[in-house]
Amino acid sequence: MTITVKSEAEMKQFGYNLGRLLKGGEVIELLGDVGAGKTTLTKGIARGLDVDDDVQSPSFTISRVYDARGGLALAHYDFYRLNDPGIMADELKETIDDERAITILEWSSVVEGVLPSDRLTILIEALSEDSRRLTINGLGEKSKQLEQGL
Ligand code: ADP
Ligand code: MG
Repeated sequence: MTITVKSEAEMKQFGYNLGRLLKGGEVIELLGDVGAGKTTLTKGIARGLDVDDDVQSPSFTISRVYDARGGLALAHYDFYRLNDPGIMADELKETIDDERAITILEWSSVVEGVLPSDRLTILIEALSEDSRRLTINGLGEKSKQLEQGL
């Protein structure tokens, strides 16, 4: 499915709506250029998960984990600066397999090998300074259902 958001606030609202639907165990792969809005969308998703902490871009730390509602955790990864994932790939795999964790990925091509076939991909493309087109694709049964709930 494809939607267009016209502002940062609308992007966060979309993220909030998505975050509300999450139950744990989901993997969301965010695609798009620098400045597309991947981290901004993640902030909205975090709100939908009742994360209290300020979500910051994990580009320097590669991963950040936040406590979320109902004992869930939001794990946010950014592999932009990583050429070789090394042991990060093992850590990521554990998180993906954790039913209490929601995994959000930016620049995930370097860890393609450990990504589950069931995941939600969201491609973000800038249409203008403030407009973004989101192309949402539920790959696999669980993610298709998630997409249909949006
Ligand atoms: P990425 O993580 O994809 O590199 P960021 O979310 O860090 O991108 O940055 C997106 C930038 O674009 C922010 O400065 C944000 O304010 C701006 N922006 C403008 N309009 C939008 C929109 N509709 N959705 C998301 N970000 C937007
Ligand atoms: Mg980012």
